[in-house]
Amino acid sequence: MPRKSQKEPDVCPKCGTKVDKPIKTWQLVSPLPDANGRITITIMGSYECPNCGYKWRAVVSKIKAGGSSVEIEGKKGEKKVIGNEKEEREEGEIIELDLSDLDEEE
Ligand SMILES: [Zn+2]
Repeated sequence: MPRKSQKEPDVCPKCGTKVDKPIKTWQLVSPLPDANGRITITIMGSYECPNCGYKWRAVVSKIKAGGSSVEIEGKKGEKKVIGNEKEEREEGEIIELDLSDLDEEE
C-alpha cells in the first residue's frame, strides 16, 4: 500500500513493533478554513511501545470537513464528524490537503 507523506503512525520507530492503538488521541483543528471553506482536522495519537517502552506521537489521520455543518465530539476517545461533505479514512492513510491559505511551508 503506497504511503504519501509518512510511515505507519502505529509502528514503533525504535524496534518496529506494531502497536494496536494509541494510548490517547486528540484533535487539532485548523483555525482557518481553506479556499473552499473546508476545515482540516488532524487527529494526533500518543503511542507507547509494549515491547521497548518507547513513546512517540504521530498523526493518526486527517479529515477535511466541508459545508455548513461540522460537528466534532470527543468522548471516551471517540470522534464523530458530521457535515455535508466529509472525507474520512480509518486506515491511517493521509488525505492530500489543500493548505494554500495557510502559508505552510515544507
Ligand atoms: Zn519499540
